[in-house]
Amino acid sequence: MSGHRQRRDLGSAPEAGGEVVRTGASLLPSRLFHEAVAQAQVAISITDASATILYANAAFGRITGYQPEEIIGHNEAFLSDHSTPREIYESLWSSIKSDRPWSGYLVNRHKTGARYLAELTITPVQAQDGSSYYLGMHRDVTPMHSLEQRVRNQKALIESVVDAASMPLVVLDEAGRVVLDNQAYKKLIGDFGVGEPAAEFLRLLQADMGPAFEAARSGGRGFERQEVMVGPPTSNRQRWFSCSGVWFRERDPSAEAFFHDRRQTYLLLVANEISHLKQQQEELYATALRALTAEQELVQSLQEALAGASFQFQGPLNLIGAATGILDRRVDACEDTAALQRVLRHALEAGREAQAMIRQSMPMRPPEAVTPVSFNGILRDVLSMYTNRLLAEGVVVDWRPAPQLPGTTGREGRLRGMFKQLVDNALDAIPLGRAAERELCIVTADTGDGILVRIDDNGPGIPEEDRLRVFEPFYTTKGAGGSGGMGLGMVQEVVAEHDGTVAVGRSDLGGCRVDLYFPLRRQVLGGP
Ligand code: FAD
Repeated sequence: MSGHRQRRDLGSAPEAGGEVVRTGASLLPSRLFHEAVAQAQVAISITDASATILYANAAFGRITGYQPEEIIGHNEAFLSDHSTPREIYESLWSSIKSDRPWSGYLVNRHKTGARYLAELTITPVQAQDGSSYYLGMHRDVTPMHSLEQRVRNQKALIESVVDAASMPLVVLDEAGRVVLDNQAYKKLIGDFGVGEPAAEFLRLLQADMGPAFEAARSGGRGFERQEVMVGPPTSNRQRWFSCSGVWFRERDPSAEAFFHDRRQTYLLLVANEISHLKQQQEELYATALRALTAEQELVQSLQEALAGASFQFQGPLNLIGAATGILDRRVDACEDTAALQRVLRHALEAGREAQAMIRQSMPMRPPEAVTPVSFNGILRDVLSMYTNRLLAEGVVVDWRPAPQLPGTTGREGRLRGMFKQLVDNALDAIPLGRAAERELCIVTADTGDGILVRIDDNGPGIPEEDRLRVFEPFYTTKGAGGSGGMGLGMVQEVVAEHDGTVAVGRSDLGGCRVDLYFPLRRQVLGGP
């Protein structure tokens, strides 16, 4: 509101016609100065040292509503609306009394009684005789002020609406800088701990949407409900957000863009957290998977039981067959022998019929199609089915999926059942180990020509001499109540269906390690 010390020299009065004024190299008639002031479009007044008006130009009359003759001889206070705070006048007078120009805003009253906001500059001027004058210049800035105020009000309104929104909302400029955000977004910054959440959302959206993101930006279309997951995929601290965005363009407010239609593009990004919803969906999915797997397991256990019964039948049948053969070859056959032969043949036929019936009553597995499969996805599904058991048994799972696995094909249901069997085995074995902490580690890796899945546990492990035998049907270390020794047999069967290999070894955790290797298969195979 104030300026540097300055006093203009009133060498010649404006009305002093005929005289000349030296301005640098040229000489201008002083009359010209008078006319310049008189015709200026800004309200100009000249007062004495106590602000009594001595001169006022035509613009002064237009802005205040008073003709010069109505106000000459009056104090400038005549214009006051008496609503300007006293401190403003004190600052004004303290400045001009010290020969410093003053600039500021006062509320004036027009002759009609209407208030207007005057932007005023007062410059102290000293005449050649040493007497002090003040040159006042003011203009009505009411329209500009009300416009400014309206813009401010609108900004405040937008900010409070944005702030009140319960979901994180942020506006980013072309360089990705945050130019506006709300409380929910600020809270997110705190939750994320490091970095700018919006930058992370943009990175994930660009990665997930690919070229569609750029197309949405250049086409000005925006995007809706794009789901992104924030947080390490291996931890359970993942958070899901549904992101919607719209790009808008705004005129560049800088001076250099005044005559050019330069525009800035901004992105309004809304990130609605849907972690809770996702969790519910995942629970539903896990429940559905559990039901599906339980059905598959039932079919499988029936198959195993009947295959076991048929297998058990085979031994006695072989014996009866051999005995019949011996009797057939005997030369000293008598009546008794012939009767025994008949009985044995009868028994053999009845046994074979029973075995055939058992085979026929084996439930057939519905053929499963070969489709593109995600090993990481299948393993994640299996782990989600075990969430409750893992928590209840206090098993720490170290789930380390490869960030990117090559695409391959397979029978998803069979693979899921196989991994479930292996996780089951590990969870059954872990409590038998001596480690205080129960650990299960599942790793997937891209080997270049295939996919490796490694399952480690810290149970008692499998002794070296048993590592091949465990794949034999009916070989079990679990005793009654186990899977009857068909579990790893089934694993080997599924692995073979996928042209893979399986090996059992010693885990770094101290227990059992199962390494499964699946070569890449891109072609879609036929039914089972
Ligand atoms: P006042 O009682 O006159 O003064 C209020 C305070 O101003 C006092 O406490 C004192 O600190 C200071 N003050 C007033 N007169 C003097 C003085 N002669 N010497 C030292 N301090 C003083 N006012 C407007 O409201 N609108 C205008 O457009 C306007 N234009 C002006 C143009 C010029 C060139 C000058 C020199 C002054 C202008 N003023 C204007 C200021 C005006 O003269 C009054 O000071 C102001 O209006 C306050 O008047 P008041 O009667 O309410 O209070």
